[in-house]
Amino acid sequence: MTVVDSALRSPVNYSPSGKDVKALRFIEEMTRNVDFVQKKVIREILSRNSETEYLKRFGLKGFTDRKTFKSKVPVVTYDDLKPEIQRIANGDRSMILSSHPITEFLTSSGTSAGERKLMPTIDEDMDRRQLLYSLLMPVMNLYVPGLDKGKALYFLFVKAESKTPGGLPARPVLTSYYKSEQFKRRPYDPYNVYTSPNEAILCPDSSQSMYSQMLCGLLMRHEVLRLGAVFASGLLRAIGFLQTNWKELADDISTGTLSSRISDPAIKESMSKILTKPDQELADFITSVCCQDNWEGIITKIWPNTKYLDVIVTGAMAQYIPMLEYYSGGLPMACTMYASSESYFGINMKPICKPSEVSYTIMPNMAYFEFLPHEVEPEQSELVELADVEVGKEYELVITTYAGLNRYRVGDILQVTGFYNSAPQFKFVRRKNILLSIESDKTDEAELQKAVENASVLLGEKGTRVIEYTSYAETKTIPGHYVIYWELLVKDQTKPPSDEVMAQCCLEMEESLNSVYRQSRVADKSIGPLEIRVVKNGTFEELMDYAISRGASINQYKVPRCVSFTPITELLDSRVVSTHFSPALPHWSPERRR
Ligand code: AMP
Repeated sequence: MTVVDSALRSPVNYSPSGKDVKALRFIEEMTRNVDFVQKKVIREILSRNSETEYLKRFGLKGFTDRKTFKSKVPVVTYDDLKPEIQRIANGDRSMILSSHPITEFLTSSGTSAGERKLMPTIDEDMDRRQLLYSLLMPVMNLYVPGLDKGKALYFLFVKAESKTPGGLPARPVLTSYYKSEQFKRRPYDPYNVYTSPNEAILCPDSSQSMYSQMLCGLLMRHEVLRLGAVFASGLLRAIGFLQTNWKELADDISTGTLSSRISDPAIKESMSKILTKPDQELADFITSVCCQDNWEGIITKIWPNTKYLDVIVTGAMAQYIPMLEYYSGGLPMACTMYASSESYFGINMKPICKPSEVSYTIMPNMAYFEFLPHEVEPEQSELVELADVEVGKEYELVITTYAGLNRYRVGDILQVTGFYNSAPQFKFVRRKNILLSIESDKTDEAELQKAVENASVLLGEKGTRVIEYTSYAETKTIPGHYVIYWELLVKDQTKPPSDEVMAQCCLEMEESLNSVYRQSRVADKSIGPLEIRVVKNGTFEELMDYAISRGASINQYKVPRCVSFTPITELLDSRVVSTHFSPALPHWSPERRR
């Protein structure tokens, strides 16, 4: 029996029961029949979407097989689909991409022309996402026993949403999920009991939401068995919040009353059932732990029964691993799933492994997956089927979804690490073309270049120019922020740019960055003010000398537009002559510019 296989793979003495058996069976079935399931998925998608305007364009003539599909339908990017997406957003209800009505747009953290990309979704997609979520705990239970004996302290948030001109909601996928009936009315599951009430998660004011979620976590500190946020940056933000607000939180606990900063009636109502009486002992404990300067291991001090951290630390989030290790005293970090606004992809079958060993197994029922060998353009190479990828090779993920994305380049680079049954497992290598990222923001080289250009206009007519620049994501502080190193050519040495002008340059750079960056700065406060560090003349030449001494070719040397290698950042920092921070918040509103 296949479930026995799963139990045998489990390092703990655990025999799954009920719902877990069903989920593990499902995983076995999917991973043993990858190619069969993929064939079925593409057949279903092409049959139901054959009358869409988009697919009709390519003359599939009723064929639903992969060979015909691949020979006729092109591989595309978001920008190729923008006209169709815009028409749907403007209210055109005809079958453009999907035969099922598009019910909302999921706003991706990937951007196009500075705005979040809009991903079409149909009603039934929610069930697909729910299905993937339902597989996570049965897998986790194979590795960590007793998770039904306590609670999960997860910091979960909704973000601002807007409506497209045609009236469809446009919001991030997790906001859509937390606001869904599937989430709000989820049946009681002893393995999935959260300390945060729904009302706290669903509050659009991120500060009230965070405050009440943290308060619940403190009140239930002994029951907490796992701590998490979607991404590592979110959990560190919560620790940073505790650092600034522990006195007020301890005060609420000591008096048994909720801070006046909470004005949301739904939170007040739900908290009145949780914060029911004063608890001086707990307040004293929080004070004694938090008043210390050294916060090493704070997570295990406050939540002593925590078995692991549930956070994604793969991809751009890997930069946060050292800080999480510091605050948690080295607790395991579980990266449980790999997903996006376009589609959810897969799960980690060994969630308690080292971050460097995390691999995701794509569930073949989620969408139709193809793999473009990395650094080869689609015209020059056949795309590879999910079942045919080769161990060790890197590929770009291309998907075809039920909601009407056809052969769409997601932009993620994955490397095949092995197989689970016949399902390939992938390491997330990186997202294409991304230079800087603090949390969900993604800034590419062209955006950074534009921001530097726009800001340097402020240096005025006096002839001062930015002659070289590079950047660095500073994540050792909470919240993290962008650091941009500038080497200036100051024509009139008697009149270097004033501090005020330099500060305005910082702000102008922020104004020029994409809407996800600005939302993180303004609404979520998850990114701190942008910093410009002016370096001494000749620093970038030294940087080149250093690269050449390490084997770079003189002819092909290009200034790296982002640096993270410590000797390089140390070199740059040792040449800094002045530092400047953005003095204000850039503009941002939930409404799209276009
Ligand atoms: P979004 O479209 O904003 O939902 O972001 C989805 C993107 O986040 C994916 O395409 C990946 O680049 C990244 N991502 C999602 N899950 C993971 C993960 N487990 N590890 C690394 N990166 C991830």
